[in-house]
Amino acid sequence: ATATSKPPTTTLQDIFVSVKTTRSYHRWRLPVIIKTWFQLAKDQTWFFTDTDDPDFQKKTNGHMVNTNCSSSHNRRALCCKLSVELDTFLDSDKKWFCHFDDDNYVNIPRLVRVLGDYSPQQDWYLGKPSTKAPLEIISRENKSKISFWFATGGAGFCLSRALALKMLPVAGGGKFISIGEKIRLPDDVTMGYVIEHLLRKPLTVIDQFHSHFEPMKFIRQETMHEQITFSYSRYSKHEVNVLKIDGFDSRLDPTRFLSLHCLLFSYLSFCPR
Ligand code: UDP
Ligand code: MN
Repeated sequence: ATATSKPPTTTLQDIFVSVKTTRSYHRWRLPVIIKTWFQLAKDQTWFFTDTDDPDFQKKTNGHMVNTNCSSSHNRRALCCKLSVELDTFLDSDKKWFCHFDDDNYVNIPRLVRVLGDYSPQQDWYLGKPSTKAPLEIISRENKSKISFWFATGGAGFCLSRALALKMLPVAGGGKFISIGEKIRLPDDVTMGYVIEHLLRKPLTVIDQFHSHFEPMKFIRQETMHEQITFSYSRYSKHEVNVLKIDGFDSRLDPTRFLSLHCLLFSYLSFCPR
């Protein structure tokens, strides 16, 4: 495509950045986010949780949203949160909805750049599946086979406003929860079902989204600037799945997100020089 046929430039102000979290994770997972990438998108990022937390409400300049969803890790509670995230985006004036988990690092400038390649006035479901094949389920209504892709929630995914508006009649105003109830699948799978199966809009795979289903050590340090999301997890008591990156000591930076932040933005005052 030539420069003249490109969609109008996307800026950070066009993006609604949504992070799913829960009461018991605030103290463990939010501090490193607030210290790093949240600082680059303070006005655009909102944390969707299940309690009032005055301490973190202050630390995020009032950007914690109590969804009033249950704080248990069940399908209903998770679909409830994503439903509130989506409805809050629909009520906003933003052009893109991007969902992340609270164990994601979001490379904000890269996210903005990549979204710039797509028009928010067209239907876009951008993300990365963690399965090698589409999911196959049997319809409970007529026993037919349904197959669809879904973007892993833990890698992050984005929806254009045009697509979200098409979802409004089927999944808006809390209806996303009833769809999750009906198909009995997790929130990110429900999202894929709504978009790929009900609306017949395909997922566009963006390889730069990474969940902890992938081994983080395989992301080469030289390519980290190009990636959009990263994550971390534990394989076992002694084995962790974290980025292999030079930087701070692991005791100081167990998630490796501080080191990553300094690799990407070395001018920051807390970074070693
Ligand atoms: N989560 C939640 N409620 C819960 C447990 C988890 O909202 O009861 C959120 C959590 O904050 C995170 C996402 O769901 O954003 C995934 O949680 P986790 O990383 O613990 O699980 P996994 O990645 O293994 O699915
Ligand atoms: Mn996780």
